[in-house]
Amino acid sequence: MAVRDQDVGQKQLPLIEERPHQENTPESPDSVMVSLAGAMTLGLEKGKFARDEIVLRGLNVLMTYKENCSANCSYCGVSRERRVPREKTTFIRVKWPVVKVEELINRTNTEKHQMRRLCVGMLANPKSFGHSLDVIRRFKKDTNLLISGLITASLIKSREDLQRIKDSGADRVDIAIDAATEELFEKHRGRPVRGPHRWDHFWWVTEEATKVYEPGTVGIHLVAGLGETEQELLAACQKAQDMGVVTHLFSFNPEPSTLLGDHPQPSLGHYRRCQLGVYLMNVMGKSIKEFRFNSAGQVVDFGADREEFDRVVNSGLPFMTSGCPDETGQTACNRPYGNGRPSEPMRNFPFVPTRQDVEDIWSQLWSSWEGDDHAVNQGSLG
Ligand code: SF4
Repeated sequence: MAVRDQDVGQKQLPLIEERPHQENTPESPDSVMVSLAGAMTLGLEKGKFARDEIVLRGLNVLMTYKENCSANCSYCGVSRERRVPREKTTFIRVKWPVVKVEELINRTNTEKHQMRRLCVGMLANPKSFGHSLDVIRRFKKDTNLLISGLITASLIKSREDLQRIKDSGADRVDIAIDAATEELFEKHRGRPVRGPHRWDHFWWVTEEATKVYEPGTVGIHLVAGLGETEQELLAACQKAQDMGVVTHLFSFNPEPSTLLGDHPQPSLGHYRRCQLGVYLMNVMGKSIKEFRFNSAGQVVDFGADREEFDRVVNSGLPFMTSGCPDETGQTACNRPYGNGRPSEPMRNFPFVPTRQDVEDIWSQLWSSWEGDDHAVNQGSLG
C-alpha cells in the first residue's frame, strides 16, 4: 500500500494511504451513486429534511467504480486515495447510496415527487464518459426529467465529445472547475496531489461547450473556501460570464480522511459576499468592475445603490442554491444540505429564505473582515 507525504496547503497534511479496492461492488453503468436527498425522496432511504420548506427539485447521480475516482482532488469524498471503505464513502459529507439505474428510473416514474431535473456526474475514470452517456440516454428515454451533464473536463478531448453528451439527451452541461485560480486549481486538483486535471483544459472545454450548447445553458461549478479571495472567485465568475457561462456556487465542506479533511469551511461573510457577487453578475448583469475590494480581496462595495441593494438582499434570492433550472427557469438542482450539516447555518437555501433567514443573512453578509477597509452597516432588512 503506497504511503506518501503531502503538502497542498500552508501546513503539512497527513500521510495518505491508497484505499483498498473494493471488489464485488456494483458499478456504473448499471448502478450509480444517488444523493441522500434523492434516495430519501424516492423512498430508498429513511429520513426527513430538517426544515419543512425543503422540497427536492433535482435528482443528482454520480458514476461509481470500485476504485473510486481516478483523480485525487484534495477536497473530494470520492477521490482516489481517500482512506475509507466503499460502504462508508460520503460525498459532500453525506451518504450517496449505490442504486441500480433501472430501479431509479422505476421509482422516478412511480414515486410521488417534485423533481424536474436529473444531473448525471462523471468521475475522472476514462470509462465514465461512455457510462454517463448511457445513463443519460436511459433516463431520457424512460422518464420526463430534464437532464444536465456534469462534466469532468479531463475526459473531453474534442467538441464532438460535447456534442455526444447533447445528442444523448442532456440539454445543459456544467463543468466542475471548482478552484477559482490556476494556482489553487493546480494545488488541489493537479500535479501536487497526483491528479490529472489541468486548468487550461477545463476552461477550453467550457468555451467549447458554448459552441455546442444554446446560450445560457452552460455552467461552471466554483467551490468557495479552497484558499481564494472573494476577488479571485468573482474574477473566475466574470471570466465565465464573459463567455456567456453561469456560475453555480458551492461552499467547501470538509470530508473526513481527505487531504483537506481538517481544513475549515469558509467564513459565512466570505460565502455570503461570494453568493451576492455571483448573483449580481449572473442575474443582474453587473460586472466585477463595479465592485470594490479591500487589501484582503474582500468585497466592501457591490456598486449598487442603497435601495437596489436592500431589495436584492431582502429578496433572499442570491442566497438560494444556484443550479440548473426547470422548464420555468426556477432552480431545479436545489441540493438541500449539500454544503453543511442540518445543525449548521444554511449556506445555500434550497427554498426562498424566510424573513428570519434574511435577518440572519444580513448579520453574516458584513462579517469576517481581514483587510484594511471594510463595509459597515450597509443595507437593512426593511
Ligand atoms: S475529478 Fe471530481 S469526482 Fe474525481 S476526485 Fe476530482 S472532484 Fe472528485
